[in-house]
Amino acid sequence: MKSVSLIGSTGSVGRSACDVIAGHDGSFRCKTLVFGRNVNTALKQIEVLAPEYVGCILPEHAELITRKFPFIKEVFSGEAIYEAAAVDCDTVVSAVSGSAGARFSFAALGNASRIALANKETVVMGGNCFMDLARAGSTEIIPVDSEHCAIHQCLGSSSREEVRSLILTASGGAFRDMAPSDLASVTPDQALVNPNWDMGAKITVDSASLVNKGLELMEASFLFGIPGDSIRTLMHRQSIIHSMVEFVDGSVTAQLSVPDMRLPILYALTYPRREYASLERLDLAAVSRLDFGEIDHASFPGIRLARLALQGGDASRIAFNRVNEECVYAFLEKRIGFTDIYAYLEKYLDKYSAMTENAGCYDDIVKMDEMVYHEIKGELIGL
Ligand code: NDP
Ligand code: MG
Repeated sequence: MKSVSLIGSTGSVGRSACDVIAGHDGSFRCKTLVFGRNVNTALKQIEVLAPEYVGCILPEHAELITRKFPFIKEVFSGEAIYEAAAVDCDTVVSAVSGSAGARFSFAALGNASRIALANKETVVMGGNCFMDLARAGSTEIIPVDSEHCAIHQCLGSSSREEVRSLILTASGGAFRDMAPSDLASVTPDQALVNPNWDMGAKITVDSASLVNKGLELMEASFLFGIPGDSIRTLMHRQSIIHSMVEFVDGSVTAQLSVPDMRLPILYALTYPRREYASLERLDLAAVSRLDFGEIDHASFPGIRLARLALQGGDASRIAFNRVNEECVYAFLEKRIGFTDIYAYLEKYLDKYSAMTENAGCYDDIVKMDEMVYHEIKGELIGL
């Protein structure tokens, strides 16, 4: 029986992870459950999963949970919430959205044997620092992001020298069929619809802008130790092939399944074994065709800009990540237009790619991130 801590339990990945844990109660028990503010969903999850520890943002929610569930050993709230991710366990599922998630992932290093990593911002911000600390603390990182989970499966035991390229597939997001000239005037409601996946707001907008694929390119580079110019991207509308690996002999392996995040979550919890899951089975005859095509990088420059950020070093990646995040929230609040996201990314990349000194450790990363946050926030609030 493996102990699993679920960080970001009330979100899209978090709810899927709850399903997986509850559906395999002979294999997993919930050690810790962390949520943000959605106390009603969290209360139901606590009833089902009976965690030993809970973390939440608000002290009043902590009091309510302590009163209602006397079996819980401790409820962490306020600044202490991060301690919840540091409780010893077999696997931490890191699924808080955005940069906030990185702090939880770092807190888990050295305390969990494995991190099932959904929060891609952790690797984009943390880069080698995160990967090195994981190795030093013997914490295994298994990706939950579907593309990276697919690559993990395709790679198997192959060495880096056997890999020619990684091929990340992209659904194309909400605006894949839109005329480029209409992109500047799209609304948040239009951006919040993904053709294949039901996800949280931030990642859904990132998918529409293809910045998500840019973040994933950086994530793949650090997770698998492959340089950015050996990572390709491919439009694949159906999200059936979740990604591929091209080997030096010309062979290409792909991982296929119906799009359902419960599969990569279960894989990350059970690897190197596989466990039965009653998920919808892939019926290729019913799917009948799989389409592929080039991404329109001129209209959706998110991947091109991410490549620049990856070449630029720690400050560029941290700036890319934070500027994008604040721009997404500003777009959702109708303070900037959709294509302004690219303009801000370009502007901040110009500035931060000149900062070539690398962040040494987590504290440096946080300092850089805060610096960018105050700068971009100030600029966006002034609008
Ligand atoms: P959601 O927005 O659906 O959920 C976010 C979760 O994080 C919620 O539980 C929320 O709590 C919690 N949260 C947010 N901020 C804080 C905070 N400061 N402290 C504690 N908890 C917090 O996001 P997703 O599930 O869509 O995405 C989560 C991560 O997984 C992201 O990094 C995303 O890129 C990645 N990912 C998601 C995929 C998906 O299918 N959704 C696919 C691949 C990767 P509450 O709601 O209670 O306030
Ligand atoms: Mg993904």
